[in-house]
Amino acid sequence: MQSLLFGSITVDEIDLPATKEKNIRVSVLRLDKIHPVISGNKWFKLKYYIEDAKSQKKEHIVTFGGAYSNHIIATAAAGKLYGFRTSGIIRGEQPKKLSHTLLLAKEYGMQLIFVSREEYRTKKPPKEIEGLSEEIYFINEGGYGQLGVTGAAEILDHCKKENFSHIGCAVGTSTMMAGLIKASLSQQETIGIAVIKNEISLKDELLSLLSPEEKRKKFRLATGYDFGGYAKHKTELINFMNEFYKNSSIPTDFVYTGKLFFGISDMIKKDLFPQNSNILIVHSGGLQGNFSLSKRTLIF
Ligand SMILES: *Cc1c(COP(=O)(O)O)cnc(C)c1O
Repeated sequence: MQSLLFGSITVDEIDLPATKEKNIRVSVLRLDKIHPVISGNKWFKLKYYIEDAKSQKKEHIVTFGGAYSNHIIATAAAGKLYGFRTSGIIRGEQPKKLSHTLLLAKEYGMQLIFVSREEYRTKKPPKEIEGLSEEIYFINEGGYGQLGVTGAAEILDHCKKENFSHIGCAVGTSTMMAGLIKASLSQQETIGIAVIKNEISLKDELLSLLSPEEKRKKFRLATGYDFGGYAKHKTELINFMNEFYKNSSIPTDFVYTGKLFFGISDMIKKDLFPQNSNILIVHSGGLQGNFSLSKRTLIF
């Protein structure tokens, strides 16, 4: 397995339509460069869970996710790197042909346990691992939780954060956004672009990760950029991602970062950022998710 290259993270300034006349600057924190397959932000979110599992002398990590989950693959890879047995509880019946993501997770040594959608919702350990709970360290789906937030707060250590007026990120479980809010300076505003539909529960999930002081910081959860819901997409999004790649040479994924860049661009066009803003967009990786699209959908 190729090792993780935290030293290769860069901050790239890019042009987006309408930024010049409004005197807005946009830079991208390239967490996608850490590893070609394993998503950028998931490492940050996993770090303190792994340390916690070690200190509790647990040898077996169990987590949850869908067939294309960046979190599943990152957990499998972390297990391989740090010497844990890993099991992934996968939503839905076992398909005839495993997705790219699951094949790779298996290659990294993860045991895959498929459960029906109804059973998945209960988040109870299935029979394969029942009775092992003494030795198991459970991690929530998507790394949601306080230790995930602590790790995500370290994302901004990879740039000069004081340069920026706004920090933009994609929001799934909201763990990364909570970490960015935690690490943000008082004058900065964190903007989360929701990639799922349920904005009410998303807001609650975010708030429950923040301390009272963090709740008083500046942040916005922007909705309306989910393109139909989690992992849904439309031609308009794919066209945007191809165009964005032509202009910036930055690849994006259709589940998270494509919607993120689309959303921030749209907000700039609609004058939702003041003149002279200096926006940092966190490219959180996730490019392996594009394997689920048919070939030639994307030009990169
Ligand atoms: C998981 C993921 C996110 C969302 O992070 P949350 O902490 O779940 O909100 C964003 N981008 C990518 C590429 C991801 O894999």
